[in-house]
Amino acid sequence: MLNLKLQYSYMKSDIDSAIKNCLKHQKWILGDEVYKLEQKISEYLKVKHCIGVSSGTDALVLSLRAIAIKSKKKEYFNKSDLIITSPFTFTATGDSILRAGANVIFIDIEPTTYNIDINKVIKFLKKTKNNIVGIIPVHLFGLSCNMDLLTNLSSEKNLFIVEDVAQAFGANWNGKRLGTFGITGAFSFFPTKILGAFGDAGMITTNDDEIAEIIRMLIKHGGKDKYNVEHIGYNARLDTLQAAILHAKFKYLEEFNEKRIKISNIYIEKLRELEEIILPYNPYKKNTSHLYHQFTIRVKNNKRDLLQKFLKEKGIDTMIYYPMPLHKMKVFKNRCVIPEPLRISEKLVNEVLSLPVEPLMEVEDVNYIINCIKNFFIKTYDKR
Ligand SMILES: *Cc1c(COP(=O)(O)O)cnc(C)c1O
Repeated sequence: MLNLKLQYSYMKSDIDSAIKNCLKHQKWILGDEVYKLEQKISEYLKVKHCIGVSSGTDALVLSLRAIAIKSKKKEYFNKSDLIITSPFTFTATGDSILRAGANVIFIDIEPTTYNIDINKVIKFLKKTKNNIVGIIPVHLFGLSCNMDLLTNLSSEKNLFIVEDVAQAFGANWNGKRLGTFGITGAFSFFPTKILGAFGDAGMITTNDDEIAEIIRMLIKHGGKDKYNVEHIGYNARLDTLQAAILHAKFKYLEEFNEKRIKISNIYIEKLRELEEIILPYNPYKKNTSHLYHQFTIRVKNNKRDLLQKFLKEKGIDTMIYYPMPLHKMKVFKNRCVIPEPLRISEKLVNEVLSLPVEPLMEVEDVNYIINCIKNFFIKTYDKR
């Protein structure tokens, strides 16, 4: 799917000198590199505060905890507090809601963008009296949710937005970078994400001074002074070493995003003719670009697993993001509300297949994958 060794050799001198610099100064906890990265990303995203944290998951949990502390004057939410999100996402999105003390409401996704269907959220909110406090939109696979609808809804219904931007670093809605719409944005620098560390790492963005201050306490045990704390905190700082590596890799971000988009456009152009698959779709204007963190197709007629096996035999790795919708997982049993059947999510888990979009992949490699996919369908067609 990705070739991290190749990516490292491409950026080797930048990364090596960043690491060597850390070895010299030995300030492993909250060294200058952490603040330098925060500042760099603040400027890039045009957001007031960036706070480096230990992972994308922690970025979500810390965001929610800080909102509970600020708005409810309580350490955690209650189970009667409900937070809306998508069932078609990585486990951590929903799990962070539980870890912050609240329960989840799952609303189904759009079959075209794979993102939560905001119109369904709007419809649901018209008829419910539940105690809904917020929403976590996930900008899945590098494409923004409809932030016009969502920000209107949020102010009309007084709901907070925590954006899950784990897969959309650098993506935007109408020219404005994601992670700057909500009260916070939660980013992941997991090694395979758009900007990947050499281990776990994450970041929180916010324009709210108080939220930023609370999060800075929570990542250091819960106080301004770690020997005398105010809140139930964590040890959830971003490592100096990871910050140094991310800072070095940041230089390549735009270049890699462009390369990924280019590869995806080849897929789109050449796979368009196949009736057996549905390609990812960006319904928005030019200003809202799809970064294709994953290039995820839908395979019709129960052929997904066969196609995956066929490609594996041809030496092509693919992935299934995601094989199970969140509401089917045991952890959410008795901790979630499902107002309407989640039919699209349940259907898509059996159809989706993510193809390789390694930014440094050669055009011949992309064409090889495309030809293998076409051959698979010619073969299965012949058998019929
Ligand atoms: C990766 C991911 C996370 C969690 O990030 P980690 O850094 O792995 O903790 C959360 N949400 C989504 C949508 C993700 O893809």
